[in-house]
Amino acid sequence: MGAIQKRRLPMTLTELLLPEGARMQVERAEVEDNRLVLTISSATTRARCPYCGTESSRINNHYYRKPADVPCGGYAVQLRIKVPCFFCENEACEHCTFAERFPDVVAPYARRTQRLVTQQQQVAFESSGEAGARLLSIVAMPVSPDTLIRLVRSAPEPVLETPRVLGIDDWAKKTGQTYGTMLVDLERQRPVDVLPDRSAASVEQWLADHPGVEIITRDRSGEYAAGVTAGAAKATQVADRFHLLQNLSDTLKRMFDRQPKKLREAAKQAAEMMATSPAETIEESGMEQAMPGDENASIPTARQDDKPMQDAVQAKPAVPTAAQVRFAEVKTRQAQGWSQRAVVDQLQMSRGTVRRYWSLDDDPERQPGPQSVSSVASYLPALRQRWQEGCQNRKQLFAELQDQGYAGSYASVWRATNRWATDGVIAIRDSTPPLSIPSLSARRAAWLFSTRSDDLEAEQLHLRDALRHVCQGAEEVYDLAQSFGAMIRNRQVDALDDWLPQAKQCAVAEVQRFAESLQRDYAVIKAALQYTWSNGPVEGHVNRLKFIKRQMYGRANFDLLRKRVLGYPQPI
Ligand SMILES: [Zn+2]
Repeated sequence: MGAIQKRRLPMTLTELLLPEGARMQVERAEVEDNRLVLTISSATTRARCPYCGTESSRINNHYYRKPADVPCGGYAVQLRIKVPCFFCENEACEHCTFAERFPDVVAPYARRTQRLVTQQQQVAFESSGEAGARLLSIVAMPVSPDTLIRLVRSAPEPVLETPRVLGIDDWAKKTGQTYGTMLVDLERQRPVDVLPDRSAASVEQWLADHPGVEIITRDRSGEYAAGVTAGAAKATQVADRFHLLQNLSDTLKRMFDRQPKKLREAAKQAAEMMATSPAETIEESGMEQAMPGDENASIPTARQDDKPMQDAVQAKPAVPTAAQVRFAEVKTRQAQGWSQRAVVDQLQMSRGTVRRYWSLDDDPERQPGPQSVSSVASYLPALRQRWQEGCQNRKQLFAELQDQGYAGSYASVWRATNRWATDGVIAIRDSTPPLSIPSLSARRAAWLFSTRSDDLEAEQLHLRDALRHVCQGAEEVYDLAQSFGAMIRNRQVDALDDWLPQAKQCAVAEVQRFAESLQRDYAVIKAALQYTWSNGPVEGHVNRLKFIKRQMYGRANFDLLRKRVLGYPQPI
């Protein structure tokens, strides 16, 4: 476009419509079937035979080529080029005749001009075949989705310099099943390749083909460690700090997973503390409102549990459940030194259950599911009738419902009747809400331990402190988690050598194992504190890849996905 604007006016039709330097002339322009058809003649009288190179001026005949071109004035454009065919004057040449070629305008045999191919290709790199075809038909460059996909495949490979600093991370092909690998140039912040798996062999091969990488950031998976070490032995390896914090969070979660009863106890203590604190009230929606900081958590958390809150007045079973009895039997034998296999045989239980009980400190009692909370629904008509009759003593109503077979909680009755009270149906007489205890997952507990105090709300601080008092070894683990987090976030290189021996002597086995695994990766962890490089940009490009993958629906073959992630090759 810039080249056209520089030309002096008035321009000829040829200058306006044809690429600069094309040795052609527009003879006629007419609209046919809503297309602008340009009849074009060649301006040359001599041409070289493309097979033998001999020049000729003897024209045998003409034929027409009809490639599509970029649009003009809202019309799709078709060229009708009158192509001269020359006799080859070289008697030794295998070809008697040859057609003139127009290398600046259209490739031999192509049905689109070069500049149209370029524009359609650029659109194809930015959108899926279907969406791209729809867009291009709006701007008068119609093309089929299949052709667009072919254009992406036929685009040349981008020529990329081998990066000095490389970030490696995986991406899920299908969530949690198979993975690919993303390689990003961290200095230029652009992807340099996408691999179809995350094996050590693929990474090793890539690094062998691209010598000269000096620094590599990666997660701590064994595959990448092995691949990088084998493929680029001299490169400095840097553990990604985000992944290290994630490792810590997973360690804490494993510790809390073992102590479900302690989690409930801590949640209860925290709720009681909040209830007695005059300035604060606990919202009925419980944890959801109590932990607003969760969304911006510095530690990654899994999908938040969406359990209904636990009611304070819960009908406790008078006798232990069958599961609790089994659990006690397993734990007794474990304490006596039995093997898991012997317990499986003796108690006729599944190996999976025995293995799970083996690692639990508390019995596997479940929290109330949604059934018991909603069960008040079937008693609502009766309840409402009593309420309107004037019986608004909730304890009385609760007792009456229990006589009718209601197995749910007092809190449910309280909530149901509270709606009528606030609706103004009938005034409230007793309005003391029962104490609500939000459920607390191991993942949330881990988050509370790894988050800085300054980032926690009052309720969250209560909950965290309750965990520290209630759970085994939690005080020590909390201090270790906090100092680890500070060390990683603030890149305190000198702190590592103090932290590791402390953590290795921790009374909690999960933390001990975590420290030992860090010790084995000592050089890589140390580098994480020495270098500023991180996998943040890789994460960004993985997100972009996921977006492209979604755009492509079922057509996301790996070669196509890779091409689109690497992008339209920039002219050099
Ligand atoms: Zn020839």
